[in-house]
Formats: sequence, C-alpha cells, structure tokens
Amino acid sequence: MIGISKLYCGTVSEGDVLRYGDKNLPANLLQFARVKKPIIVWNSLQKCNLKCVHCYINADDKRYKDELTTEQAKKMITELAEYKAPVFLFSGGEPVIRPDLFELADFAKAAGMRVVLSTNGTLITTEVAKKLKDSDFSYIGISLDGIGEVNDKFRGVKGAFEKAREGFRNCVKAGLKSGLRLTLTKGNIDDLPEIFNFIENEGINRACFYHLVYSGRGKDLIKEDVPLERKREIVDYIIERTVKFQEKGYNKDILTVDNHTDGVYLYLKLRKIDPKRAASVLKLLQYTGGNSTGIGIACIDCFGNVHPDQFWRNQTFGNIKDRKFGDIWDDTSNPIMKGLKDRKKLLKGRCGRCVWVDICNGNFRARAEAVYDDPWMEDPACYLTEEEISTRV
Ligand code: SF4
Repeated sequence: MIGISKLYCGTVSEGDVLRYGDKNLPANLLQFARVKKPIIVWNSLQKCNLKCVHCYINADDKRYKDELTTEQAKKMITELAEYKAPVFLFSGGEPVIRPDLFELADFAKAAGMRVVLSTNGTLITTEVAKKLKDSDFSYIGISLDGIGEVNDKFRGVKGAFEKAREGFRNCVKAGLKSGLRLTLTKGNIDDLPEIFNFIENEGINRACFYHLVYSGRGKDLIKEDVPLERKREIVDYIIERTVKFQEKGYNKDILTVDNHTDGVYLYLKLRKIDPKRAASVLKLLQYTGGNSTGIGIACIDCFGNVHPDQFWRNQTFGNIKDRKFGDIWDDTSNPIMKGLKDRKKLLKGRCGRCVWVDICNGNFRARAEAVYDDPWMEDPACYLTEEEISTRV
C-alpha cells in the first residue's frame, strides 16, 4: 500500500519509522513495516449476502462442509500466534455471517494478535458494531465501490449502498476505527469526487483505493480495469483531494493499494516540487520494499489452504489441517514460493529491466500470470513510461 497522506503530504518521515524498529511499529505505521512475519488474511467463509462483480474469491450463497470449524480455526490461530504473525484479518465471503466471528476474534486477541475486519458493511447493525468494539477489532475496512446505484450495480444487490452507509455510521458511533475500501474500475472512477465528499461528510478517517487484481470474478473484468493512460490522472486526483483534506486540517489517512507503481509515480512527482522530502520518501519506499506477496502478506482460505496473497487463488502451498502454517510458509521447495521470497532475478519484460524494482518488487505477480500466463512476466497494470522505468536520476 502507498500512503498518500503519509508520503506525499509528509505526515510521516523516515525518522518516525526507523525510531521504532521493525518490532514496535504502532498501528498507524504498520504500512511501513519491513517485517516479514506475514499479516494473515483469512477468508473465513465463502458465503456472502452480496454478489460483487469483482469478487476475488467467487463468493456465493452457501456454507461448505469442509470449511474450518471453530476448533480448527482456534488451532490455526494458536499456531499463527506462535509463529508471531502480527495481524489476523477476518475476510470472506462476508465474515459477519460466521456465527463464531466474535469468539474467534476474542481468541486471536488473547493469543496476542491484532484483529481486523474486511466487510461489505451491510450487516453492521448498532448491535454488531458494539460487539466489534467489545472484541477490540482495531480496524474495520468497509467496501464501497461508488455512490448509490453505482455501488449497487457493482455489488449486485439493490440497497447495498444504503446498508453499507448505515454500517459506516454504526462503526463511527461505536468508536471503531473504520475505513472505506474502493476498487478502481472504469465503472466508478467518475464517482471519485462524490466518494471524497462522502469520506468528508461521513467523518471517515481512512480510505484505501485498490487497483484491480485480475482474480476470481475480477478476472472477467480485465477490460473494465482503468486504462493505463488514465491511471496517473486518477492517482493525481487522489493526491489532489488528499492535499485538500490536509489543508482543511483533517487527519485522514488516504492510501492506494495493489499497485506499487504508485510509489514510484508519487516519488517522481514529489521530486519536482520538493527534492528533499522526495529523498526521504524514497528511503521509506526502499525500507518497505514494494510488493510483499509470499513474504509479508499471506492468505488462508476457508478450507485451510495457504495462498501467497488473497488474490492468487490458484497457487496453494499446503493446508493448515495437515501442516503448521509456519512450516508451509517457510518451505521454499515450491518454486513459486521460493521465487516470491527473492524474485528480482526472475522478473521479465518491463519489470525485468526496471530501475525501480527495489521499491516496487515487480508489483503483482497474480496480474502478470492472469494476462501472460507467466508469473514472472511484467505487471500489465504498470503505467510508467519506458523512459521512467529506465532512468533513475
Ligand atoms: S516496470 Fe515492473 S518493477 Fe518497474 S515500476 Fe513497473 S511494475 Fe514495478
């Protein structure tokens, strides 16, 4: 993730991060962790009450008999905590549907992990928000892909926008730290001004703008991805509105996610107006090292299969019902896992000759595989010019 407020607006400097070291980073600086014990995304179930067109796990309306039981999930959490995974993120399907959500969250907290929820927000009633607060969820990420009908069209269910807005409001009332997650596509980029107004009017303190990763139903949407020639215009707009928030004195954390090209672009843009701060930003980007698939982020699906990140579903390294997560994660006998842990020499095409690979790390391999059927080819969502990827100074 690329912290636009923290990097472009300079609300964080390299000193702020280095002062803590890798182990003691506070929650607001975790995006700069160089760790490399992974954050765990757990797709706790396949079932969802919505039908989003870009759903990366192809969620449906069923529970499956092989999904991890409460006891199996607790065993997994215990092993993850022993492995020192710092964050346990409940995702889905829609995790609020899982009846043991709060029991498992309490268990993970007691085991020493931070718990985070990724949700469509439509089921967060006042009562659910209170329970989330009681279970000490440190962050609630709510997906919204536009205003009103634009969102409902993405979500495949009429009324989803109103219900998600209610979910936001209930989180804010309950004192939960919550944020908006939006996946950028051709169908919603014209809604961005309204989205920023929504963030302002609803008192939302964090927003993550995701670039599309071609996975699950998102694979059918490749043609709906923001065209390369419009990506920098969109990032420019996100930067412009973030700066306006700062000027108004709002402490809002605005980020882009799933395209490390944004880090290079942001640095190059900043270099023209403030070379000194740009140099500090470059150090922070180098410190975090770009894409962390297979290193700093891991995904476990509802059946216990371990994937290199939440999007790369067709790559599986083992199942936590058979082996401990740490044993699976550290096992580099699988060539993809081995390659991900040290990928620079494997990258091909533009990524193979790029001078920014130390801060991008080749971006998303799942996108390369979806388009070129080769996990080490260039990321097709990189919008930098040939000149930009060839010249460092
Ligand atoms: S060419 Fe590849 S490594 Fe370079 S910035 Fe683009 S995506 Fe990243």
